[in-house]
Amino acid sequence: MNVVQGLKCRECGREVAVGPVHVCEFCFGPLEVVYDHDRQRRVVTREAITAGPPSLWRYADLLPVLPGATPQERVDLGAGFTPLVPAPRLGAALGLRDLWLKNDTLNPTNSFKDRVVSVALSAARRLGMTTAACASTGNLAQSVAAHAAGSGMDSCVLIPADLEEAKVMATAVYGTRLVAVDGNYDDVNRLCGEIASEDDDWGFVNVNLRPYYAEGSKTIGFEIAEQLGWRLPAHVVAPMASGSMLVKIDKAFREFTQLGLVDDAPWRISGAQATGCSPIATAFKSGVDAIRPVRPDTVAKSLAIGDPADGYYALDVVHRTGGAMEDVSDPEIAEAILLLARTEGVFAETAGGVTVAVLAKLAAAGKIDPDERTVAVISGHGLKTLPVLQGRATPTHTIVPTLDAFHSALAIQEVHA
Ligand SMILES: *Cc1c(COP(=O)(O)O)cnc(C)c1O
Repeated sequence: MNVVQGLKCRECGREVAVGPVHVCEFCFGPLEVVYDHDRQRRVVTREAITAGPPSLWRYADLLPVLPGATPQERVDLGAGFTPLVPAPRLGAALGLRDLWLKNDTLNPTNSFKDRVVSVALSAARRLGMTTAACASTGNLAQSVAAHAAGSGMDSCVLIPADLEEAKVMATAVYGTRLVAVDGNYDDVNRLCGEIASEDDDWGFVNVNLRPYYAEGSKTIGFEIAEQLGWRLPAHVVAPMASGSMLVKIDKAFREFTQLGLVDDAPWRISGAQATGCSPIATAFKSGVDAIRPVRPDTVAKSLAIGDPADGYYALDVVHRTGGAMEDVSDPEIAEAILLLARTEGVFAETAGGVTVAVLAKLAAAGKIDPDERTVAVISGHGLKTLPVLQGRATPTHTIVPTLDAFHSALAIQEVHA
């Protein structure tokens, strides 16, 4: 079963055959996967999806699975189909009565990046590429290294040298070639573009494989709708680095609607950034379409893309759906991580802190209706960014090992029989 027709330029609309290409030869616009919609309408049903594996591959017929690819040769560590859980206590704290969390901390390498990597590397294999590679803000490197190790591919990942130690170690552990570059993400990305144009065997998941990579993000949107009982939420709040995930959640809702898998109903999508790297939110708030690149300076390193590739499209989605964008400071991010953990038992990395803090800001500003069904995307695990909680998550009491010391520390009255 193959549903992929080719690639198409998002700007001029020209079509090309599937291959390791990501920009249009004519206008340099980004390429996007084109599907055979008639075929999809015949094969994609709620029943077929439900009968699929409990991973993102249950949506294989809506993903860029290349001709001849078999399920056995997928690059798959089980990414996707993460829990969608109600968040009543966080909701109560923020004045939202129908709040849900999409908990993507529970992916194989604990971030949403496992979705895009599994899809991109499965395509890479089919395209005959032998080395898995990426330009990363941290989570992508870890995910590429893990998926390559788990499928016997060679890998080489490039990161800015100043990443969190946990992300560096959690990448190196997989035995990849890990190249720390003295520069920021945008420098790393430029370098990867140069390497990719030199060597066709290298699949940079977010550079020359970007059309396939980006499609993987749709699966968050598919899952949200399926897990709500085949219904769309009224509002989704998502973090933005390049802006690609946010754009693809909107695309997922459109595809589900067009295929008749959910009833047509309006949805809004809102975007979250850290103030120290908020080129997209800043453009939105100033009412302009042109995104001015910035030099990132924030603890939310996984979102620190100063020149976001999909920023323009993210603005378009948020405008078109009637959503909003906001940005939050580093202290607000740390506070939001604690609030989420203490109200819902979900421990998020800085990107999740950004999302929850922006959710709070939008709720306080009346930009989220208290009764509308709202989903916040929690995209990475808190153990990846422990140092941001330095001094804020410590033992509450330190004692000598006696019962007296314990009681007086906790000021518990002794109970006498
Ligand atoms: C990469 C990343 C995002 C957002 O990615 P986009 O480039 O906007 O698609 C969000 N959260 C985490 C934890 C990430 O690693």
